[in-house]
Amino acid sequence: AVDASVIALNRGTDHLEVLVMLYDVTYLRQVEQMQLDFVGNVSHELKTPVTAISGFAETLLNGAKDDPATLNQFLQIIFDESTRLTQLITDILTLSRPDTGQAQATAVKVAEVVQTALVNLRKPIEEKNLTLETIIPDDLTLTTVPVKFSQVVRNLLNNAVFYNRNGGKVTVTATTDDKSLLLSVADTGIGIAENDQARIFERFYRVDKARSRHNGGTGLGLAIVHDMVLQLGGEVSLSSQLGVGTTFVVSLPLADLPTFYKD
Ligand code: ADP
Repeated sequence: AVDASVIALNRGTDHLEVLVMLYDVTYLRQVEQMQLDFVGNVSHELKTPVTAISGFAETLLNGAKDDPATLNQFLQIIFDESTRLTQLITDILTLSRPDTGQAQATAVKVAEVVQTALVNLRKPIEEKNLTLETIIPDDLTLTTVPVKFSQVVRNLLNNAVFYNRNGGKVTVTATTDDKSLLLSVADTGIGIAENDQARIFERFYRVDKARSRHNGGTGLGLAIVHDMVLQLGGEVSLSSQLGVGTTFVVSLPLADLPTFYKD
């Protein structure tokens, strides 16, 4: 896309000198379009739980509350939908907040961050009867922005648990080369088809909408992972095979953070 502005420089008797400036605004338009799409998606995603909450509450008020079983079932739905709404709002705010680079970078123990995330997932891990393996040197530390790093770990582990099969396995491995931490989160779950892999980090992109919603997923987890990793000066990639499993690999600078986090 091109924008143009025309400036008349000189009007002679028989001619006109004109300066035409052309700007390539392709990228600008793309960013605008992405922002519009995001706002559209946000409205839609927010409306879904709100509609459910008000619908079920109204039905209860209109008399359904007199049946104890229905009362219980509908209250559970209202509770689940409000939990989802809260998560959605938290995720949207995380993605919309500008990265000011003000956050403090500190040394964190990788094994501890992973352990904390796993403790929080204890319930679904037990329910699915998953085996866990963590191969992380005890003394491995990373200088990073702790909230961002733990969010990355949490989101990847959430998915490795949720998209796993019953009785499956989650393996978390951390190694280093001279400059980077390489953290991999591998599962034995449903896998991601090749044509979906390219889009998986987009906001609200889901392979199977119903399945992800049911788990309380917002469709923003991997978009957040992608944003955070880039902010921390790293990269994230994946390899996956349908029906076999998925491995996400995050590489992050061990100490050499983007300049704004250094002070
Ligand atoms: P969601 O809240 O839907 O899980 P994410 O952004 O975390 O949102 O993931 C986007 C989509 O990528 C998911 O809906 C799912 O289809 C797919 N996905 C993410 N992680 C995995 C995984 N470990 N195994 C299989 N599919 C996954």
